[in-house]
Amino acid sequence: MADNLTSEQRSKTMSRIRSKWTAQEKKVHSYLKGNKIKHVMHPKIEGSPDIILTDTKTAVFLHGCFWHKCPRCYIKPKTNKKYWLPKIENNVIRDQKNNKILKRRGFKVARIWEHETKRNIKKVLERLLEYGKN
Ligand SMILES: [Zn+2]
Repeated sequence: MADNLTSEQRSKTMSRIRSKWTAQEKKVHSYLKGNKIKHVMHPKIEGSPDIILTDTKTAVFLHGCFWHKCPRCYIKPKTNKKYWLPKIENNVIRDQKNNKILKRRGFKVARIWEHETKRNIKKVLERLLEYGKN
């Protein structure tokens, strides 16, 4: 992970990460649409999930492994800990909070990790299809 960056470079790096996820989201969106699964991308609701599958009231999060501390592939940054660690911890705390909010409002919550989409996007999409149908 890039550590010796100016804040300007850093925000560029972060927006690049974000736009990478937008590409994933586009893929997910067209797949769901193609399969006639009703959904809303970036719904403006409390708990801010990335996608909602309307018929089954499922909230979906697409999580970057580094930013959301994936239990499988997260590696603690070695340098600039003062910058990264609080940021990541905040994300984790926010994720837990959002999880609770959504469940309280009757949503099922599904979490999709970046490594899963990298390894096998097709499998992830099929899983989403199941979430959307049941
Ligand atoms: Zn991961």
